[in-house]
Amino acid sequence: MDNIQKLKDIITNSDSIVLFTGAGISVPSGIPDFRSASGLYSQSFGNISPEEIISHSFFYQNPKIFYKYYKTHLIYKDAKPNKAHFYFAELEKQGKLNAVVTQNIDNLHQLAGSKNVYELHGSVYRNYCTKCGKFYDLNYILESIEVPTCQCGGIIKPDVVLYEEALDSDILEKALFEIANCKCLIVVGTSLTVYPAAGLIRYFKGDNLILINKQATPYDSYANIVINDDIIKVVEQLEN
Ligand code: ZN
Repeated sequence: MDNIQKLKDIITNSDSIVLFTGAGISVPSGIPDFRSASGLYSQSFGNISPEEIISHSFFYQNPKIFYKYYKTHLIYKDAKPNKAHFYFAELEKQGKLNAVVTQNIDNLHQLAGSKNVYELHGSVYRNYCTKCGKFYDLNYILESIEVPTCQCGGIIKPDVVLYEEALDSDILEKALFEIANCKCLIVVGTSLTVYPAAGLIRYFKGDNLILINKQATPYDSYANIVINDDIIKVVEQLEN
């Protein structure tokens, strides 16, 4: 039996799946992979590295440059969910999938209909005033010239986890609970090299760990099934 057929059988017989996703699931939607060779981090922005620009200290020191980069490289407002996002949203509707834990900030799982989504790195769709805490939507950010500011005069910050910042402990705890208590963990589109998010899958103690990624990952040897292929191709075969 090939891996696709094995995975198909696991999904058919499972009612306790958790999906863990990284940038790879959104690449077919036109959002570049942060860390792949052709991804965001190989593009230069003057002499400053993207890691430096998307950091907590840089945000407060140079909000103008931060937002110039952020608006052009991290926001993909017209991106639509793809077949993979819809496929997993459907599994949740069928009562097979408990939760989605994602490293992505693009909101595409929710746009596809997923309800129980834990965004480890936040979302570009939420933004808040650093002074009074008032929330602002994505349009407000896009329509602002240079640095978006609140009515109170405070600078508005995206609800996205920047470099030097810790993950939200409440979201982390809930994501961990889901991973630790599911029977099948499907990991899609992540090289599993980003900590602490990648360390989460170590909490999995269920029956089937499935890794679907274009390249090999450091966790391949722990997995029951490894599929190194495009996620869209995989989903098309699963739907057959
Ligand atoms: Zn304010």
